[in-house]
Amino acid sequence: MSTSTTKLVNQRYPELFKPLEVHNHTLANRAIMGSMHTGLEEKKGGFDRLAQYYKERAEGGVGLIVTGGISPNLAGRVSPFGSQLSFPWQVSKHRKVTSAVHSVGGKIAMQILHTGRYGYHPFSVAPSAIKSPITPFKPKALSKRGINKTIKDFANCSKLAKRAGYDGVEIMGSEGYLINQFIVSKTNKRTDDWGGSFANRIRLPLAIVKAVRDATDENFIIIYRLSMLDLVEQGSSWDEVVELGIAIEAAGASIINTGIGWHEARIPTIVTSVPRANFTWVTAKLKKHINIPLITTNRINAPETAEQVLSSGQADMVSMARPFLADAEFMAKAKRDEARLINTCIACNQACLDHVFKNKLVSCLVNPRACEETLLNFTTTANVKNIAVIGAGPAGMAFSVYAAQRGHKVTLFDGADKIGGQLNIANQVPGKEEFFETIRYFENMLNKLAVTVELNCLIDSSKLEKYNFDELVVATGITPRIPELEGVTHSKVLSYVDVLKHKAKVGESVAIIGAGGIGFDVAEFLTHEQSLAIDSKAWNKEWGIDTEYENRGGLATKAQVEPSKRKVYLLQRKRTKVGVGLGKTSGWTHRLSLKHKKVKMINDVNYIKIDDHGLHVQIDDKDICLEVEHVVLCAGQVSNRVLYDELNSKLANVHLIGGADVALELDAKRAIRQGAKLAAIL
Ligand code: FAD
Ligand code: NAP
Ligand code: SF4
Repeated sequence: MSTSTTKLVNQRYPELFKPLEVHNHTLANRAIMGSMHTGLEEKKGGFDRLAQYYKERAEGGVGLIVTGGISPNLAGRVSPFGSQLSFPWQVSKHRKVTSAVHSVGGKIAMQILHTGRYGYHPFSVAPSAIKSPITPFKPKALSKRGINKTIKDFANCSKLAKRAGYDGVEIMGSEGYLINQFIVSKTNKRTDDWGGSFANRIRLPLAIVKAVRDATDENFIIIYRLSMLDLVEQGSSWDEVVELGIAIEAAGASIINTGIGWHEARIPTIVTSVPRANFTWVTAKLKKHINIPLITTNRINAPETAEQVLSSGQADMVSMARPFLADAEFMAKAKRDEARLINTCIACNQACLDHVFKNKLVSCLVNPRACEETLLNFTTTANVKNIAVIGAGPAGMAFSVYAAQRGHKVTLFDGADKIGGQLNIANQVPGKEEFFETIRYFENMLNKLAVTVELNCLIDSSKLEKYNFDELVVATGITPRIPELEGVTHSKVLSYVDVLKHKAKVGESVAIIGAGGIGFDVAEFLTHEQSLAIDSKAWNKEWGIDTEYENRGGLATKAQVEPSKRKVYLLQRKRTKVGVGLGKTSGWTHRLSLKHKKVKMINDVNYIKIDDHGLHVQIDDKDICLEVEHVVLCAGQVSNRVLYDELNSKLANVHLIGGADVALELDAKRAIRQGAKLAAIL
């Protein structure tokens, strides 16, 4: 890169690209790839895959990588077979990772995570024997000897991490894990010198930081992740956070990272509906008390946001975790002034955190190569083909980009006037605006890769005859299902497309038929006048966050939810709890948000008919009429595969992907992945 270009780029994100000296290391910039467990840590051969995964992120220019959490002992593991670093024989596999990162000039620290009572196994320990609300196992209270042994285990683990070649460690002291459990009186009921007063409760983190520094040396980076906002009852007060921060610095930490919210907190902290950079204020509040660099975090997913946070002096560094799953080249693209080509993390959690909680390997909805770097590759083809793709939804867009990346000549058709398919409907839902970014990414990539995009071009088999395509990829998506129900054609019946896309006028009382992902989205749309994702103040008010920090844990005395003007019923036939099928890590926020808005969620409903009076249903064997002005159908979807069947009956080399293939439980994750997988082999 020429000097003049470098100057230009640095003018755009000057703070983000400012190097930082820490304990005799020079970090190339102010971005940290935050800790994320991938599942590869425990998988056979997983460290070879991890090495490539981290290498690509280091090559992509991130200043410092922090690995997923590794336990310092058996009790601290996440799960029975969770990863641990306690013995010299475990060092060599970590060397694969550190060598790979160092080979491209990167820096990497290993996170040491002791889960305490969050351990999903019967050997978990904690300051006191109090079960957490999110795990089934009651922990054993650590003895004094056990505490001293735990400190030694942290020191030993960091010594082994250093031997493995890590540039440092991050000590996980937040999110409600063991160290956090010691700090907060809610979980620490000890009466010995590790409990009671705040000074006693913070002895553990201070002893750990000191022991880790003693076990390593001055060239070793020690990051301490400090819970600056617990978001739980009886959490730390602001004065305690400050006292702890000052003491952690004095104990020998190199950097303090921000932790937001315990895992058991009932306030969302990273899902897509959380406004960008919503929690950086808390890091900024601590900054005047601390001399070592502070990292801020949560919902920072764009270089402009990072730059804004840094340039306003809120923090010295920004941690982005999922954005580096979504795009390994995030920093390189920002540096080249190509932010428009960043594949933005939309904070959906669908392929990352939701997978962790289902014991599945982590990947990424918008980037199916994440954690599959050694398996899924788009190598240049020696056999260039002329390919038609019909349908520019996620499946068609992903296929087109990856196929063009391989060198194929691709033409992408869509009957609509823009690309994106249903993502253009999803992004109308309050709190789902990030889907705009996915469409922007694909649009710019299609352009860059010279894919011919033909819009307003509804394809039937005859239209394709004039072309001479080698392969046809049908990605025509779905059609909303219209249930067989008396009165379904009544004027008060609307589909979710009418409501979200065509902005049909909807009355003050509504019944939604179908409580799947789309039913929830429609309920959210109908009960929110405007999206809170772009209004931090309103969002914090609605979720009960006390930004003045007058109360412990940063909790407001009462959440202040604006009442909805509409009366909304969200209905399903199944007997299961409404919303149980939503994402593991985000579903509860949707349910809680609608509960705040007093949406009536009813299961085990039998639909009878729709007429002028409303929707007639049977609930608990009683016939009732829900007297609503409108009924919105969100009753699932069926595949749009007529074109495929037609083409396939006449031509060879016709392929089917996305919703057109299988509509049931279809989501953008599956659509994009299917498109990518086909592109890799065609
Ligand atoms: P589609 O997106 O349906 O795209 C098909 C495309 O084909 C369309 O653009 C259409 O115009 C075009 N087409 C059809 N027939 C022809 C033809 N004959 N000629 C030319 N063009 C044609 N998924 C998630 O993973 N997470 C979410 O949070 C999420 N939220 C959603 C919220 C809403 C409100 C909606 C509606 C969907 C949501 N989804 C979500 C689902 C997700 O959008 C779909 O799973 C995904 O879009 C399916 O992709 P696809 O490419 O198979 O089809
Ligand atoms: P869905 O999740 O499968 O839900 C369909 C709903 O319609 C169900 O509640 C079902 O419940 C009901 N239904 C099905 N057939 C019916 C019939 N004949 N009559 C009446 N009701 C019927 O599908 P969706 O809501 O359309 O969403 C489509 C896909 O988009 C989903 O699979 C999801 O993955 C994705 N999406 C994801 C998110 C997200 O946040 N991750 C958000 C939106 C959409 P009963 O059968 O019990 O009545
Ligand atoms: Fe971000 Fe969703 Fe990808 Fe996770 S799956 S990294 S939240 S885009």
